[in-house]
Amino acid sequence: MSREAQLPHNTSAQVVVRDLQKHYGGIQAARGVSLEVEQGETFGLLGPNGAGKTTTLECIIGLREPDEGYIEVCGVDARRRPRDAKQKIGAVLQTTALQDKITPHEALQLFGSLYRGRIEPGPLLEQFGLTGKADAAFDTLSRGQQQRLGLALAFVNKPELLFLDEPTTGLDPQSRRELHTMIARMKQDGHTVLLTTHYIDEAEQLCDRLAIIDHGRIIAEGTPRELIAHSTAATSIALETVQAIEATWLEQLSGVHDLTCEPTRARFRSTDIARTLAELMELLNARQVELAALHVQKATLEDVFLELTGTSLDNPGEPETDASPSAPSRPPRRGVPTEN
Ligand code: ATP
Repeated sequence: MSREAQLPHNTSAQVVVRDLQKHYGGIQAARGVSLEVEQGETFGLLGPNGAGKTTTLECIIGLREPDEGYIEVCGVDARRRPRDAKQKIGAVLQTTALQDKITPHEALQLFGSLYRGRIEPGPLLEQFGLTGKADAAFDTLSRGQQQRLGLALAFVNKPELLFLDEPTTGLDPQSRRELHTMIARMKQDGHTVLLTTHYIDEAEQLCDRLAIIDHGRIIAEGTPRELIAHSTAATSIALETVQAIEATWLEQLSGVHDLTCEPTRARFRSTDIARTLAELMELLNARQVELAALHVQKATLEDVFLELTGTSLDNPGEPETDASPSAPSRPPRRGVPTEN
């Protein structure tokens, strides 16, 4: 048994990954990724383009051979017993590519014939809203319908565990919403789901827990709420007043930065929210200024991501090569400490 396999892990974990390494030529796509996905949870791997999400997922489901690392899927050592592991999982890749003229009904029948236990096409077509398109050629389906067929195909072997690689990338808002509903239903039905995404809203809405991946490393892990709570990203405050206020008054409050001030409106961030608010109330009282509205917004997951990676999800960094320093150019700061 490998050293990684002997490390203690939660026995209810459906996915265990230890120190996964994978490089392509000079590009180190996974640099010691470790994660665990609990039974029944939806776990998200969130990161910008090129962060190593697809590489990690494809290594877990056996589509790529890692350089190093231990992978366990539903209690099966997936690198030693890949066929057994594959019987237990369903996967949806970024795009569902099938023969142009195959129909959803035929595809479901064909894929089902590859597995010992399977679900018949009828119920799956119904579940994924494709009954009306059962006999339509694949190349006549919309992108959203093709992705729904991808989901239906992933369910054909009654999987315990679902892997979804950026399932909604490139879909229109309506199709995204539909897919979100279907993914949420998977969890309600007791499935364990590991999905990758570069959409913050998707991660926040669908995932019980998240790992943020950047330059092939997991840099933070936790529930969206934990990640935000552990973040030092500043809280923002917006206020409206009845009488005019002045920027010079607000600048003196503890922890205030990024201040903008108009006569009866102000907006700023604070690194010490309790103190700032207490001082603000004192100040308004002393100046006899009446408060019309006050809005306090904790840091968002987007702020956390920016804080941890130094980049927004719209602005991915360069891929890391073997020639790059072994640590990311910016030292990783952690929302919730990870084992890496
Ligand atoms: P995206 O959101 O764009 O799919 P990702 O986070 O899934 O990105 P990967 O696709 O795993 O990231 O890619 C990680 C790095 O490895 C990138 O720099 C990518 O260019 C590189 N890479 C991925 N696949 C290959 C390949 N087959 N050959 C060479 N380099 C690759």
